[in-house]
Amino acid sequence: MTVQAQSGMYIGGAWRPALGEETLPVVNPADEQIVGHVPAGTPADVDAAVSAAREAFPGWAATPPAERAALIGAVRDGLAARKDEIAATVTAELGAPPALAEAVHAGLPIVVAGSYAELAATYAFEEKVGNSTVYAEPVGVVGAITPWNYPLHQIVAKVAPALAAGCTVVLKPAEDTPLTAQLFAQVVHDAGLPAGVFNLVTGLGPVAGQALAGHEGVDLVSFTGSTAVGRQIGAVAGAAVKRVALELGGKSANVILPGADLAKAVNVGVANVMANSGQTCSAWTRMLVHADVYEEAVSLAADAVAKYAPGERVGPLVNAKQLERVRGYITKGVEEGARIVAGGAEAPLEKGYYVSPTVFADVTPEMTIAQEEIFGPVISILRYEDEDDALRIANGTVYGLAGAVWAAEPETAAAFARRMDTGQVDINGGRFNPLAPFGGYKQSGVGRELGAHGLSEYLQTKSLQF
Ligand code: NAD
Repeated sequence: MTVQAQSGMYIGGAWRPALGEETLPVVNPADEQIVGHVPAGTPADVDAAVSAAREAFPGWAATPPAERAALIGAVRDGLAARKDEIAATVTAELGAPPALAEAVHAGLPIVVAGSYAELAATYAFEEKVGNSTVYAEPVGVVGAITPWNYPLHQIVAKVAPALAAGCTVVLKPAEDTPLTAQLFAQVVHDAGLPAGVFNLVTGLGPVAGQALAGHEGVDLVSFTGSTAVGRQIGAVAGAAVKRVALELGGKSANVILPGADLAKAVNVGVANVMANSGQTCSAWTRMLVHADVYEEAVSLAADAVAKYAPGERVGPLVNAKQLERVRGYITKGVEEGARIVAGGAEAPLEKGYYVSPTVFADVTPEMTIAQEEIFGPVISILRYEDEDDALRIANGTVYGLAGAVWAAEPETAAAFARRMDTGQVDINGGRFNPLAPFGGYKQSGVGRELGAHGLSEYLQTKSLQF
């Protein structure tokens, strides 16, 4: 299947020529070949998109929620109809293995869009509180800035709730994965949304992204990406007294308590990190194991990782810069005294931005590889002596996005999870729930995505007293 690239921006209901001349190449990280070019947006393109979104806002905000729901349902149906094309596009620009691209990259956004079609129709946008009627009203024009790791999911997790709330949107997707975003814009167009309700500007973060985040016509900035950029965006929004939602980095702990099913906890933990080549903000990259079963867990992890062959089950990293960054962390881990039991920094394949799935043992909590987000297929196994020690290690980073706890009884695991400084914890392998709030404690972010909590980010309240 060939991958399509648009040469313009989607603004005010149509593909329009970009206002600047420059384009950005899109590279397939599996073979380093260019698969297309997209326009590099300028502040003038952002201006045009924000104007279109502002113009469309009063009409969309006044559209009955049931009508908004029907149109979001049409977007959902469009995503389902073009599932194969979406999966092929994500494979081409992110390098995701086809099975992962189909099941997760193309599949999950259909579920999330469907959930907001339903929520838009059923959410209580009005409630009575004593002698008051409280209205949940849309915040206004949303500037959405998304990363490349789950290109379509990150877009849909912002755009669908924003539209459900009655907001209009300008999206600036990651420069590594703009083709999926263009495909999404086409789906929105074909679904028949009114002109200007959704707009797309491709381009570089420090140019188009910065212009969008600081634009005075934007009422709310919703950003997913690195903590470094999130901090800047938060500062700009704070200075303008503007709403901001930040979904940032993570360094989540997979805590295996005594009595847990060790083999299951290790195998599921390894699978969690290897999925998407470790480029998952919520990945459980620190495995915490009791001293008594430490070596057993290390050898189970080494065996499990051996099943993840680069180029087959594990795709490449997104670009050459990320590859160098991840290899740098592996080298650093060795320098700081951690023991490699699988993988290493050497390139496993001749072409493509691949890194070998890597497991470190004898990792101590203060090591760089135990503190910083690596964003690659790298697991650090840490030893703890008792539960308090495990909790101290689990909570001992600046992040708090996700985590897992395993124990013989779910109640034991849940009691431990309640003491963790983190936004989402899976108990004994609990399944992903697309309606559960997702977001960070501490420096992992501000605000929540998905489900009703995700919708409320795009609403503000007004109360009338009678
Ligand atoms: P990034 O911060 O470099 O880029 C994210 C987005 O911000 C891109 O669209 C980029 O173009 C834009 N951007 C970059 N500089 C900007 C600026 N100065 N002003 C405005 N926009 C700018 O992050 P990345 O490398 O694309 O993504 C990886 C990071 O994202 C990781 O740290 C990961 O943990 C995080 N992430 C978090 C979540 C979450 O939900 N918490 C989800 C996925 C990824």
